[in-house]
Amino acid sequence: MRDAYDLVIRGGAIVDGTGAPSRPGDVAVRDGRIAAVGNLVQGAGAAAEIDASGLVVSPGFIDVHCHDDIALINIPGVEFKTAQGVATLVCGNCGLGAAPANEQFRQFYARGTEGVLGPVEEFTWRSHREFYDTVRAAKPSANAAFLAAHGTIRIAVMGLDRGPPSDEQMAVMKEHVREAMDAGAVGLSSGLIYVPGTFARTEELIELARVVEKYGGLYVSHIRNEGSGLLDAVAEAIHIGEEAGVPVQLSHHKASGEANFGLTEQSLPLIDEARARGVGVTMDAYPYVAASTALVAIARGGRLAPGLDPHDVLIASVKHQHEYEGKRVDEIASMMDLPVEDAVQRLLREEENTPVAVMFVMDEVDVRRVLQHPQCMIGSDGLPSPTGKPHPRLYGTFPRVLGRYVREEGLLSLEEGVRRMTSLPAQTFKLTDRGEVREGYWADLVVFDPAAIIDTGTYEDPRQYPRGISSVLVNGQLVVVDGSPRQVGAGQVLARG
Ligand SMILES: [Zn+2]
Repeated sequence: MRDAYDLVIRGGAIVDGTGAPSRPGDVAVRDGRIAAVGNLVQGAGAAAEIDASGLVVSPGFIDVHCHDDIALINIPGVEFKTAQGVATLVCGNCGLGAAPANEQFRQFYARGTEGVLGPVEEFTWRSHREFYDTVRAAKPSANAAFLAAHGTIRIAVMGLDRGPPSDEQMAVMKEHVREAMDAGAVGLSSGLIYVPGTFARTEELIELARVVEKYGGLYVSHIRNEGSGLLDAVAEAIHIGEEAGVPVQLSHHKASGEANFGLTEQSLPLIDEARARGVGVTMDAYPYVAASTALVAIARGGRLAPGLDPHDVLIASVKHQHEYEGKRVDEIASMMDLPVEDAVQRLLREEENTPVAVMFVMDEVDVRRVLQHPQCMIGSDGLPSPTGKPHPRLYGTFPRVLGRYVREEGLLSLEEGVRRMTSLPAQTFKLTDRGEVREGYWADLVVFDPAAIIDTGTYEDPRQYPRGISSVLVNGQLVVVDGSPRQVGAGQVLARG
């Protein structure tokens, strides 16, 4: 006779993801779903048991800001995420996706994007639907949801044209957004500091967001300016959502550059005011004072963006000359015996635009203020470079929030911290039956020690799994056992709603 349950997690403190106070109980899993929550009698018949006494049982975390589109295929175990308790990855952020992968996009990708998303041996897909099928076939360990990416779509249709799209081009771009939404995308993303997102005017984004509105999706943006122009850029994102009638998610919300420290004191009220008018504005953030992105995006033509000190810029990864990884730009300039601008230019040229940089540009006070906002979710923004020293957020974001900001600093309660990683993102991105420990929901679950959970990676040595997370389940299957991640094809490609 078959056991009543496939697995029972016994005797933990259930933090259910809603923000409700934790309560002791058992969680039973059957056929990938949560079959029962509460006090189950001993010997209720489970094929396996996990003793969670002294530990917390929470929903699997949802990383709302991922760039793992290609990593899901190259590294299907996505161990750097599952070891953090992440069960679901929202990919296609910052206007950068993997589809539509026509010839124009493939050429663009070959000119440096692999440094950010990872190498693509062969584009075997073209449409969004074909890409999602490719991810499915790779059998990743975590679930994945996707945003249609404005920048990728724009390149596929307009190449690197700076001007506004013609009526015909706009019609084709809309068709690509529709195709993505039909295939299950959760919304549209943009990256307005990057090529080609930066060429887009507000009107273009409103028109594309209107397509998403018809499907009940959202608009997610790496806004046009996170420095001195932060407030205008937040206002633009809200305006786009308001005009198109869609909710807005502000990506990795921050105030960048010393001259702009403290600006989140003014940006967060803009969000509150919009919400009071009925615009659904939310955001995500990662718990670090350093950002990370493609070097080429912050150093066009070799000149670092205004206000960026070369000593505050660390090279995380490159394609060929790995001796530069982990070095700051001023150091690299002296290694090359060149002025900074020439050194950066040479590095970009010799490394074929692939270098990824880590920039120490934020103030801890802003980071905390953003994390404290009740509409702030957690998104790692990790860049899954196969080589080098990626920003430690790739391995440590979620345990760092729970260890440092929840336990050590008391910035958020444990229940509230977990809510920002689970039910808030599930509701915002319309991931049905996920984000809560609730009967009938998918069994995405994390078992962790609230007294021990912490990130362990550093900028010098970032590839370290966190401590304190013993088990992680994705759709009822164990992808982390005794703290060790393993590749199990447990993930699903999730469709909106
Ligand atoms: Zn971004």
